[in-house]
Amino acid sequence: MQEISSQLQQVLSRIAQACDQCGRKQDEVTLLAVSKKQAIEAIHTAYKAGQRHFGENYVQEALDKIHALAHLQITWHLIGALQSNKTAEVAQHFAWVHSIDRLKIAQRLSAQRPNGLPPLQICLQVNIDQQDSKSGCTVEELPTLIKAILPLPNLVLRGLMIIPQAQNHQAFMQLAQLREHLLATIPQLSPQVFDTLSMGMSDDLEPAIAAGSTLVRVGTAIFGQRN
Ligand SMILES: *Cc1c(COP(=O)(O)O)cnc(C)c1O
Repeated sequence: MQEISSQLQQVLSRIAQACDQCGRKQDEVTLLAVSKKQAIEAIHTAYKAGQRHFGENYVQEALDKIHALAHLQITWHLIGALQSNKTAEVAQHFAWVHSIDRLKIAQRLSAQRPNGLPPLQICLQVNIDQQDSKSGCTVEELPTLIKAILPLPNLVLRGLMIIPQAQNHQAFMQLAQLREHLLATIPQLSPQVFDTLSMGMSDDLEPAIAAGSTLVRVGTAIFGQRN
């Protein structure tokens, strides 16, 4: 458990160094600790070391952790695929969802977000390089999807998310350019709100930050191999 806090510090140093090298400020990049398949105790250890944003992939596993750690000030992010029969739980318990790729899921999340909670922050997952996984919408689908999502009252569209194929660092630049293109062509999008590029993981956070990532999702480099 001691290791988790020193590995967390190492990841924060990598982020600081990557920011330095491209002239960005460290506070422009949020570290999301990806705790899927990790024990509740491991999350608690990272929390005690100062980490506040945690990402989970599987809804049921995440709910168990959210309930067990409800006394902590954690911001929970869903980064895995979301089926429509799980949207109510997600709307109630998460602050962010990064993996939206179709309108129906967004509509359900907005309708099911409880009154009294702030709007759910969402990113659209884009399949920019036709990676094997079927998740993510295509670049062509994006404008229509965005225009349909923007009016939904209980969601805030914060940006774009990508899981590129290994070593495809060009995809990070493409996602940053895609954000610029969308801002230039969809006047309802505000650069202050649509400000998130969720990209970069344990092995490639440096090129992602160089390309403009504002949120890196890091699991293994903090927690070690998953169970
Ligand atoms: C598991 C996962 C991560 C973290 O991957 P690591 O290589 O362990 O850092 C990031 N993003 C998503 C969407 C994931 O599923």
